[in-house]
Amino acid sequence: MDIAIDHDKCIGAGQCALIAPEVFDQRDDGMALLLVERPGAAQAPAVREAAESCPLSAISVAEESAADGANAAPGRPRGSG
Ligand code: SF4
Repeated sequence: MDIAIDHDKCIGAGQCALIAPEVFDQRDDGMALLLVERPGAAQAPAVREAAESCPLSAISVAEESAADGANAAPGRPRGSG
């Protein structure tokens, strides 16, 4: 699981830090601070709940496949024709 916070969206509501305090904190200005970019499975439910609870949908969660370390499907060529 990979997490990213869009700080352009974050308004410092603090939901994420309340729901998953081991993964999210808040900076002095209230904006979300990511403590763990790749949390383990034990934290995944709280992270998902935090992402769903964010009023601005500022938290992106990318689930990993079983093939750890493998690249995703190869991209299609970006031909102009
Ligand atoms: S819940 Fe969303 S808006 Fe609130 S601090 Fe976390 S990322 Fe920012």
